[in-house]
Amino acid sequence: MRSIEIQVSGIVQGVGFRPYVYTLALNENLNGWVNNDDRGVNITLEGHDKNIKNFIKELKNSPPPLSKIDNINVTELELKNYTSFEIIKSKTTSNKSTIISPDMAVCNDCIDDISDNENFRFKYALTNCTNCGPRYSIINTVPYDRVNTSMSKFVMCEDCHAEYKNPLNRRYHAQPVSCEKCGPKIALFDTSNNELKKNIEAVKELANKINQGHIVALKGMGGFHIVCDAKNDKAVEELRIRKNRPTKPFAVMFKNIEQVQENANLTFKEEEIVTSKEKPITLVESKESILSSNIAPNIDRVGCFIAYTPLHILLFEYLINPIVATSANLSNEPIVRYKDELIQKLGTIVDFVLDFDRDIINACDDSVVQVVNNELFVLRNARGYAPCSLKLKEKTNKKILALGANQKSTIALAFEDNLILSPHIGDLGSITSLEYFTRTIETFKRFYDFVPDLIVCDKHPTYESTKWAKSQDIELIQIQHHYAHMLSCMAEYNLEEKVLAFCFDGTGYGDDGNIWGGEVFIGDNKFYERVNHFKYFKLLGGEKAVKEPKRVALSLLFDTYSIEEVLSLDNPTINAFSSNEIKLMHTVWKKGLNAPLTSSLGRIFDAIASFSGIAQLQSYEGETGLQIEMAYDKTIKEFYDLEIIDNQIDLSSCIKQIIKDKDATLISSKFINALVELIVKISKKNDTLPVILTGGVFQNKTLLELVIDRLENLNKRYYYSKKIPLNDGGISIGQIYSQI
Ligand code: ZN
Ligand code: FE
Repeated sequence: MRSIEIQVSGIVQGVGFRPYVYTLALNENLNGWVNNDDRGVNITLEGHDKNIKNFIKELKNSPPPLSKIDNINVTELELKNYTSFEIIKSKTTSNKSTIISPDMAVCNDCIDDISDNENFRFKYALTNCTNCGPRYSIINTVPYDRVNTSMSKFVMCEDCHAEYKNPLNRRYHAQPVSCEKCGPKIALFDTSNNELKKNIEAVKELANKINQGHIVALKGMGGFHIVCDAKNDKAVEELRIRKNRPTKPFAVMFKNIEQVQENANLTFKEEEIVTSKEKPITLVESKESILSSNIAPNIDRVGCFIAYTPLHILLFEYLINPIVATSANLSNEPIVRYKDELIQKLGTIVDFVLDFDRDIINACDDSVVQVVNNELFVLRNARGYAPCSLKLKEKTNKKILALGANQKSTIALAFEDNLILSPHIGDLGSITSLEYFTRTIETFKRFYDFVPDLIVCDKHPTYESTKWAKSQDIELIQIQHHYAHMLSCMAEYNLEEKVLAFCFDGTGYGDDGNIWGGEVFIGDNKFYERVNHFKYFKLLGGEKAVKEPKRVALSLLFDTYSIEEVLSLDNPTINAFSSNEIKLMHTVWKKGLNAPLTSSLGRIFDAIASFSGIAQLQSYEGETGLQIEMAYDKTIKEFYDLEIIDNQIDLSSCIKQIIKDKDATLISSKFINALVELIVKISKKNDTLPVILTGGVFQNKTLLELVIDRLENLNKRYYYSKKIPLNDGGISIGQIYSQI
């Protein structure tokens, strides 16, 4: 006979851990107890050594599906001769470090419940259980008990309570458990806030409205979606006009995987991810489409996801077609959580609103992923994946808060050996998004009783996060943007050694005050040296150049040719300006008026799109990259020569060749190949160092897969982030890692 105590940490609350432990203890004839506290789950076991060993083995090998065990700590105890095994009350201690589970898509058992007309949750749109449903989005604070969630105002009926109390039931301590009798209610409203229908009738009516071509709002798990029929050209076009969103792709929600396959070409891995328990938006190759061509204009990808809440599943019972489902927000603002706010802000965009009265406490967008090299690659870390945690090799004695970048903002926390990343917050371009940012900081401080003694932020003087950091009376450290990109990858793999990092990005504030973005660093988690960078060029018009690729292209032409030569070129860039405009721009270029210097590879991609006639303007960041990728032809093996002169990567001979080549496919292919050759060349030169690929440019799947292939062939050790976005969404994690 033996007695032990087991402490389990990680995502172990709200995921059915205690009933799982209870059942396991009964099976192994063990006595004792289990409870939750704000560090995780505690188990005391008494029984035969063999049974205890079996118990631990089972715990390690097949824990509950939604749990994620970070650590199991076993200590021996004196025998107390317990006579039964029990689940006892949660206790609160002062050290909060349990990890909050992300929201999860509805499970198959719950889908069965709402589809079975004998079941008391038949057609109940807010059904959930311990294996699925909302978590992060409804939690006020830990421990994860009903009183600490937005379900606290609903009193369980007898039927729900019986399930909630029964350790052998799938809904044992499922905090949001409810049914139509006792739980939150669904209702349909018009934009004057009049209630039109209730319950399943509301869902049916909403489907009718969508089928008729209306644009509607639908409350989801972490916020509202704006929805319309994805096959109705007029509705999609109308949505673009109303939302003032000319070309940025919309995600499409499908009834099931079969409906996705009718509209897109999926690999086996992509199918697996679309149907996974997280159900993210997955970027896949679109088919010659029966969907409206306005969904993802000018590109050959489409973001697909399948119905992930019981409400979506019921809605699809009455829908004819797949639906556009895009986050409900004003541009630069966070996703809307409340009906009244929705009507106030987006009442002119939507015709009807479907709402329910389970409040969303913490907003959370949909995650966006793609498959790279046959593996999951997260582009936006949110619903299903975030909050997420990494384990540090050693405990830190500081409490560190990192504030991320200004776009694709996230925050990160470090305490003890925990590194925690918030869900995607978005771009900090408005007062409401800044409020969302500070609210997220408060939420995480509350979750973990966390008071930072150190803040880390970007070096950019006008980033909202920098300004906020400076207004706090707390020690502050600023980390260069691209160094943070490099560190973010190192954090994912717990690297401390010296690396060679290709930080190919949009824009970030450089140590010399210029705009960096095409950097090669050698360094580790304590220092870095900028060994190469793309030669500076002038961004004509500053910020304006981001929206107008032709300005970047023209600037590069001025660097390469005389003004007379430029005027005589026959090229799409030149044809996009009048000769007077070109002369005016030349003056701007010569004098350097509102023309900051940059080494950004993201902007060079824009220029390539302009030279090749693919695009002279872009309406969202990364549009040109997607279009260049689409033009890429893998049978073309030629590449442009990118010379390195005085450690600077020089584009002039590349540009001269581009002007001669003219053809968009040839230019796009030779340019991407040139970047691959450049990376290979520099990697070979630094033979002993492992390679890091980071920054927004590597969201380009074609480029990343080509580089991976070559580095594999060279037997080179290389890393790129998969779980943490390698775009600016990962910056906060990198900032923290500099202080570990
Ligand atoms: Zn379920
Ligand atoms: Fe960046």
